[in-house]
Amino acid sequence: MKVLIVEDEHKVVDYLRSGLTEQGWVVDIAMDGEEGTHLAIEYDYDVIVLDVMLPRRDGFAVLKALRLQKSTPVIMLTARDHINDRVRGLREGADDYLTKPFSFLELVERLHALARRTRAQESTLISVGDLYVDLIGRRATRDGVRLDLTAKEFQLLSVLARRHGDILSKTAITELVWEVDFESHTNVVETAIKRLRAKLDGPFRTKLLHTVRGMGYVLEVREPRDMREPREDARPS
Ligand code: CA
Repeated sequence: MKVLIVEDEHKVVDYLRSGLTEQGWVVDIAMDGEEGTHLAIEYDYDVIVLDVMLPRRDGFAVLKALRLQKSTPVIMLTARDHINDRVRGLREGADDYLTKPFSFLELVERLHALARRTRAQESTLISVGDLYVDLIGRRATRDGVRLDLTAKEFQLLSVLARRHGDILSKTAITELVWEVDFESHTNVVETAIKRLRAKLDGPFRTKLLHTVRGMGYVLEVREPRDMREPREDARPS
């Protein structure tokens, strides 16, 4: 079992690391929210322990970024007197919470329960038309043919697939795929989209990745009458 602990208090980190390692868990540590987001998205964990109060990016922001891409079970650590944190955490996609201070045995119990629950579900296969994106196996196919994607291209496709039907702006894509805000380099997104599109749509008649001028990109199956860009039948809002 592999666990990621996102926590900045050295005492708690040391205590959890030694205790869980002793129990046979493989433990990764992130000491701030940015590193936590990066590790949580980039690597596959059976479960993540996420503190709310973190430097650089708080636990809620980490959870939000993670949930756009992955359904890794998350147990949040909240302060005893902050009941709103628990409610908010659960609403935003946490699977469980523990209030500090907590007993080690109780945490281990909860971690096992969460890891078991996801293993039973594994609903991480997204389909859009004849496209299948397997988020756990990290592979994508169209019409049964595997797409030969780089890690970044797969991540970009995952972001679009998880939110298929929604228009994602370049800024949103930048934050979700590169986890940084480099507004002045939006051509990075354009270049990545162009490469992905060549592999995803190039050999196929039905195009799935569409540019919505002035707004961003959307992954969806369009009826033939919707193929014009931008959509002229869209009502002004
Ligand atoms: Ca903390």
